[in-house]
Amino acid sequence: AIPQAATHAENAAHDVASHLHPFTNLATHPQVGPLVITRGDGIFVEDDQGRRYLEAMSGLWCASLGFSNARLAKAGSDALHGLPYYHTFNGRSNPAAIALADKLIALAPVPMSKVFFANSGSEANDSAVKLVWYYHNAIGKPAKKKIIARKNAYHGVTVAAASLSGLVPNHRDFDLPIDRILHVDCPHHFRYAEPGETEEDFASRLADNLEKRILEEGPDTVGAFIAEPVMGAGGVLVPPATYFEKVQKVLAKYDVLLIADEVICGYGRTGEMFGSTTFGLKPDILTSAKALSSGYVPISAVMVNEKVHAAIAANSGKIGTFGHGFTYSGHPVACAIALETLKVYEDENILAHVKSLVPQFQKALHGYEGRKYVGEVRGVGLIAAIELYADPAQRVSFDPAKKAGARLAELALAQGLIVRAMGDAIAFCPALITTAAEMDELFVRFERAMTIFE
Ligand code: PLP
Repeated sequence: AIPQAATHAENAAHDVASHLHPFTNLATHPQVGPLVITRGDGIFVEDDQGRRYLEAMSGLWCASLGFSNARLAKAGSDALHGLPYYHTFNGRSNPAAIALADKLIALAPVPMSKVFFANSGSEANDSAVKLVWYYHNAIGKPAKKKIIARKNAYHGVTVAAASLSGLVPNHRDFDLPIDRILHVDCPHHFRYAEPGETEEDFASRLADNLEKRILEEGPDTVGAFIAEPVMGAGGVLVPPATYFEKVQKVLAKYDVLLIADEVICGYGRTGEMFGSTTFGLKPDILTSAKALSSGYVPISAVMVNEKVHAAIAANSGKIGTFGHGFTYSGHPVACAIALETLKVYEDENILAHVKSLVPQFQKALHGYEGRKYVGEVRGVGLIAAIELYADPAQRVSFDPAKKAGARLAELALAQGLIVRAMGDAIAFCPALITTAAEMDELFVRFERAMTIFE
């Protein structure tokens, strides 16, 4: 049985006493206390006081099939009864890992050669960094190790992944970023474009800046560029028109690998199976997680193309092993659930459903343009954000001390709606299975919160 204290007061007391929360103000948590979610039902979740919430964030951008998919539960249960654990070191394998690897190679947005499994987006991106370093040693370019990421990117929290991230609170007082990781311009047109600069011109300027930076650093020292097709935790930033086309020209010119971080975008979020398809990325390495298992179990995947694979395979032959991997790489239960998730996407024709829902979602969001405190509405597919400004016409932001975004998210919560504040941007990332009626309900609840906020 799942341990559940009888009352919220008991849950809160134990949580505050023993649980160290990620991305939480630990100083105020004892007073604020936890929101304890006890069950899920479709796209709704319920707390330990019986309150029901429409979950418009899929948890942390992951529960694409909602919170009660019976097929995933059965796949997990069957796997636990069959083979609950085995590893994949020294050439060991299991049928679920084999089938999932096959399936991912078939789904990949560009030709990919092999899949490496890990447990989280952070581990996948850390693995990608190690692969870039190993690859460049393997091909006799040991100096080509710097990795270029972008300001406001989010790539996770392990030492390398947190370093790739371009968010100050994730570095501050953790002594990050580590060496050899650089950050270039954030491609947020609304905020950083010069007056009158079109998206295309802005993209050209950013690509020129990237080229300048590569030349300053020395092209022989730059190994890879990593990008989320749509920046998620940095504020749901959709790339400006022509951005990736121009960036990739620069990367190709200096033989810099491209890593696509599809941890949020992967598996339907942008209206295509991968954000790389939506935005024309041709990555050498592609990381994914989250919707790979609808968030039901931790699993991530790193796909590499044959150029990368051939070099690392040859190098491991020299060393005698490829010295990287996790106890739970290719975990049979996680792989079985991921495989079933991908089957559900196919059986329920999830991409067609997403495509049918996008106009309703985007229309409702863009309906907020021109509201008293709305500066920008941005999004693609089923991921979007509304950014609040104190004075949208003059582009004056709220004083951060006012915590405008957090306040609006709290008001939404009180209306039975879970959204996420990232600074003053409110993110929406509803489950891919959301129905048209549920989408309407989402915006009814959000409108109530916004009206009170105004
Ligand atoms: N990359 C992206 C784009 C993410 O959004 C996240 C998590 O939100 C990560 C990586 C890190 O994933 P995890 O939290 O599973 O380590």
